[in-house]
Amino acid sequence: MTTITRFAPSPTGRLHVGNIRTALHNWLLAKKSGGRFLLRIDDTDASRSREEYVDAIRAELAWLGLEPDEEERQSQRLEKYEAAFAALKEAGRVYPAYETAQELELKRKIQLGRGLPPIYDRASLALTDEQRASKEAEGIAPHWRFRLDHEEPIHWDDGVRGPQKFDAAQLSDPVIRRADGSWLYMLPSAVDDLDMGVTDVLRGEDHVSNTAVQIQMFTALIAAQYQAQQIPRFAHEALLVGKEGKLSKRLGSLGCDAFRERDIEPESLIALLARLGTSQPVEPIAERGHLVETFDLATFGRAPAKFDEDELQRLNAAIVHQLDYADVASRLPDGMDDTGWHAIRPNLSHVNEAAEWWRLVTGPIEQPEFTAEDRQFLAEAARLLVWSDTPWEDLTGVLKQETGRKGKPLFLPLRQALTGMDHGPEMKELLPLIGEGEARARLERAAKA
Ligand code: GLU
Repeated sequence: MTTITRFAPSPTGRLHVGNIRTALHNWLLAKKSGGRFLLRIDDTDASRSREEYVDAIRAELAWLGLEPDEEERQSQRLEKYEAAFAALKEAGRVYPAYETAQELELKRKIQLGRGLPPIYDRASLALTDEQRASKEAEGIAPHWRFRLDHEEPIHWDDGVRGPQKFDAAQLSDPVIRRADGSWLYMLPSAVDDLDMGVTDVLRGEDHVSNTAVQIQMFTALIAAQYQAQQIPRFAHEALLVGKEGKLSKRLGSLGCDAFRERDIEPESLIALLARLGTSQPVEPIAERGHLVETFDLATFGRAPAKFDEDELQRLNAAIVHQLDYADVASRLPDGMDDTGWHAIRPNLSHVNEAAEWWRLVTGPIEQPEFTAEDRQFLAEAARLLVWSDTPWEDLTGVLKQETGRKGKPLFLPLRQALTGMDHGPEMKELLPLIGEGEARARLERAAKA
């Protein structure tokens, strides 16, 4: 059976690093077994969903290289939910409830005050037909709850958490539909997972109790012959937290824009998020295929995954050092070719620093003050410079012979005269890029200063 996973964001905001991680893991899980990765836009909440966020989600997944194999939208599937609702109602698994939000809140407070768990007391389920009719005559439109089966045990083998068990009697019958007819998350998601043949639901551990409820929904939907399909496997990953151990506001708003602004490569973020919170080491793996092959839910830990931006920065530098010219060409300064990229790449933490280093090649450069002795040495260098395939090796070789200098006194004044800097890319790679004429001019200028 083909693995089918889904990433199901609500388009009520931009993706943050936690959502990106969930999307990535679903993508990896699908790709690992040659399966399909679906993007499901959970836009049943018309008042909070925005088209600009849908566009942003698509664009960000594309930037991350997590393009879905297919896209679905809940707002276009409303008749499916209607049919499922009718089937569940027919089967006695859905009932109208009339409590106001204030009444429910009061009940909750009373229960908590008595030291009881705040489980919905099913008062509306106990209403007689006459009582219901009189509520409706009063003009109270009901919302709708799914009736959990208290006799039916709930268990599943979670891909991350292992065997899970819930007692339905310890859960509230969830509200699935508002009085205005709009849908809450629970039922549409279960309907879609069945309809779309989702084999694996991988999401954050904040959904564990939703899964308990949804397992009964799946069973009820299948029994109502709405869809005769398999219940998906479930896995709930530990949440992502900041370095300080909490899901901070900052982390909750840290998304692709912020990473792009910091010139973080998507591959760096992917390499970090693929392994964070697992027993596998976080490594600067730029090759996506390797992350796919090594992805394994069994390595996921139960402790929260800690996101550390410094770690991302370190990883980024290591990833940049592996990128090919073709990966970055459009972001490099004019005239910087493959050779230039390879010369400069080891010095970069971010691709956008390439321009700064490339200026050492194109000039203008600012040279430091040299001692009289160094000026004489540099004059000698200008005179002895001959051009070949290996001008740096040749120049330093002949200067060593002629002047007796070696080590730092030999190399540093040359580097300073040729680039204006004390450190930087390998001179043997840089000098051919600077070119004979410019190199001689720089040496002569330094000798005169
Ligand atoms: N739209 C839901 C959310 O963003 C989807 C949860 C799920 O994966 O089922 O929380």
